[in-house]
Amino acid sequence: MNISPEFDFSNHPQLAQKVSDNLDIAMKRLSDLVAIPSIAWEAFDRTQVHKSAEKVKELALEVGFESAEILTATYGQDAKEGMPAVVAHKPAKPGYPTVLLYAHHDVQPVGDENEWETKPFEATQVGDRLFGRGAADDKAGVVAHLTAFETVKEAMGADFNAGVTLFIEGEEEAGSPSFASFLETYSDKLQSDVIVVADSANWQKGVPALTTSLRGVASGEISVRVADHDVHSGMFGGPLLDAHTVMVRALASLHDSKGKVAVEGLVHGTEPEVEYTEENFRTDSGILNSMRLAGEGSLSSRLWTQPAISIIGMSIADVDKASNTIASRSTAKISVRLAPGSNPQEAHHALEKHFKNLDLWGAEISYSADDSGLPFSTDTSSTGAQLALRSFETAWGVTPVSTGLGGSIPFIADLKEVFPTAEILITGIEDPDTRAHSANESLYVPDFEKAIVAEALMLSALSRNS
Ligand SMILES: [Zn+2]
Repeated sequence: MNISPEFDFSNHPQLAQKVSDNLDIAMKRLSDLVAIPSIAWEAFDRTQVHKSAEKVKELALEVGFESAEILTATYGQDAKEGMPAVVAHKPAKPGYPTVLLYAHHDVQPVGDENEWETKPFEATQVGDRLFGRGAADDKAGVVAHLTAFETVKEAMGADFNAGVTLFIEGEEEAGSPSFASFLETYSDKLQSDVIVVADSANWQKGVPALTTSLRGVASGEISVRVADHDVHSGMFGGPLLDAHTVMVRALASLHDSKGKVAVEGLVHGTEPEVEYTEENFRTDSGILNSMRLAGEGSLSSRLWTQPAISIIGMSIADVDKASNTIASRSTAKISVRLAPGSNPQEAHHALEKHFKNLDLWGAEISYSADDSGLPFSTDTSSTGAQLALRSFETAWGVTPVSTGLGGSIPFIADLKEVFPTAEILITGIEDPDTRAHSANESLYVPDFEKAIVAEALMLSALSRNS
């Protein structure tokens, strides 16, 4: 990629002024998008997702993309059709990079409407926050991309040098079922050097963040067998332990007495640069006051760069149907969050070995792998990451931070797989008060404006250096 490490941000005042001039129309466009209840879940009226795709396409043409189309891909054995995405394009001049701007136009359901203080599908500004479902996640991402593009076009002329491809997905909140197939089907249209994913959170109000690490995930099933068949607990209980008792011991071996993961061979990543406070963690998680926190190391490392294991299922009789029987078999399912740097296959091997090595009265204990998802990390010294961090610094006038996410963003792994050489930059439009996915979702407008300025700086810097 032809980017000089000396990014030229000298036009910051001009871009910031233009974004400020464009903010009213940006808020109007965002409100128009929020008004469309584009929930991509099967149980909802999905014609609304088509409606919002139409609206995004219209806006893409309005801000000056040369082409914009609504595309779908099929997935699964019965070739189901995925929800519509919008792809708009402005070509690069020879020798200049192409930036893919990703966001999603579908939203989460609203949940209990009584919990909303404003109407969820009516964007309502209260003070410096805009309330509404999708006002932040991720229709703000959509409008940030549109406005950054429009601003750079106005400042540098419609034929500025960098290429820009807008890619607005329509089913992210529904688990992106056709995403991998979409990338394969349209990989020619989506080729790019840098991918900006505007679907994460800033660190605090007024403090921008680049999300540089995401944990991966691995899940698997554990089986325990202690006898050929179930027997009466009165007749055989005592010398024969039931399979669930053995299972509980097997599962207990996954953590040490401090609650730290005790499986050998799972990767522990590096210490994050910011600390998540215990107070925030307690408020956000709803953990009981009496509960001590499990594990070791900084809280942010426990959440972002260390493995975590949860038991997510167990086959055992319901309490109201329980009988005096010694179960001969027990199965359970665990979910393991993997630190950046882990390989899910190696994690599965480590778990397999862990359970194989357990000797619990000689019971047969085995582990079988289910799903896996790759972790993600950004090399913050890379040109793309430096470009993002420096443009944040210029736009906000404060030092940006690198943060992590304890969960995964499944489509990031898909992007990485199909476009292995593209740099993926995960930027934020949310803040800790956004409440994405909950009632009273909102966008902090001052940071929204800064996020647009930062993205305009990135596009402009990529156009100025060759
Ligand atoms: Zn989102």
